[in-house]
Amino acid sequence: MLYFIFLTRRCNLVCTYCGQSNTPTDSMVQEITYSMQDLLKFLKLDPDPIIAFYGGEPLLNIEKLLQIMNRLPHAKFLIQTNGLHLNKVPWNFLNQVNSILVSIDGTAATTDYYRGRSIYRKIITNVNEISKRGFSGDLIARMTISTHTDIFKDVTHLLLLENPHFDHIHWQLDMIWSDKTQYGDLNNWIRNYNKGITQLVDLWMEKIRNEQFVFGIVPFIGITSSLLKKTKSSLRCGAGLDAFAIQTDGSIYACPVCPEFKDFKVGSIYTSKPSEIENSMSIKPPCLECEEYLICGGRCLFTNHHNFWGEDFHLVCSTVKHLINELKRIEPEIRQMIKEKILLEKQFNYPEFNNSCEIIP
Ligand code: SF4
Ligand code: SF4
Repeated sequence: MLYFIFLTRRCNLVCTYCGQSNTPTDSMVQEITYSMQDLLKFLKLDPDPIIAFYGGEPLLNIEKLLQIMNRLPHAKFLIQTNGLHLNKVPWNFLNQVNSILVSIDGTAATTDYYRGRSIYRKIITNVNEISKRGFSGDLIARMTISTHTDIFKDVTHLLLLENPHFDHIHWQLDMIWSDKTQYGDLNNWIRNYNKGITQLVDLWMEKIRNEQFVFGIVPFIGITSSLLKKTKSSLRCGAGLDAFAIQTDGSIYACPVCPEFKDFKVGSIYTSKPSEIENSMSIKPPCLECEEYLICGGRCLFTNHHNFWGEDFHLVCSTVKHLINELKRIEPEIRQMIKEKILLEKQFNYPEFNNSCEIIP
């Protein structure tokens, strides 16, 4: 299973959309209070753990990261980081990490608007350094999409970067848990977002058609893979199913974003076993009655249980449905190319394991 481990709740940035500022609204302690022994006792009960180092900014506690990596040599590792301290992680450890998800929101203007002045440049410098050193894992640009994002422009900017080159681009919409009035005319914002998605799908297909190259746009690959294989998907992030967050005090939550919501607490490293918390939460209506449920999977467990936007929940779903429909539009051509052996189905096999990309933005 996948475990998000909060190495600290502290962060060295104050991003506009972040729910985890330096003055958290919940009562969770800032630093880890459990012992390494207690953590390992719990994690060793899972034969195939995936560890996602998370925070706050996890690389403000590199020491704990190294201890965990040293003691769990059989685990897969991910880091979700803002990239500012990437150059401080010893290379022999960094290069053992399977995936690094770097928070970056698109162009310099977009990234700096949300994350602070000159942050884009600092991220790019650090990521470039590990790229040049030959990082062999999966380098993922993880974007937050909010009010000032131009989805086509910001995604293509990251997609076409050469130094550094990101293997994959993934994004998540800053919606439902955020203040919807910040979007102004929400209908209009969504119309523009959907237009940008159509443009991106066209660009993606053009590259496949002309060069048989599949750009690493995670939502497109993940959904297309399900369409091609006709698989039914459960909640793709796995929250409460096979993905959990271990908070600084050792309590276990179904998802990393909500320590103040006690209904998401499913156990603790002191008293629970992985097998006892597996499949402990599930998606509820309205998703269960939705015509796209088996592709979407319910998008987000947290917003499915805590819908702060009331009826406007359906506006967010209209982005999901638009995305799925656009990919259904090009699916026959992709299927035909695979049939004619111009393209391989395995080019859409991603991710190999739950690497914390939720697929549905
Ligand atoms: S599109 Fe919306 S209602 Fe439908 S399954 Fe996804 S999140 Fe739920
Ligand atoms: S998609 Fe929602 S439920 Fe899943 S991990 Fe992200 S915030 Fe949590």
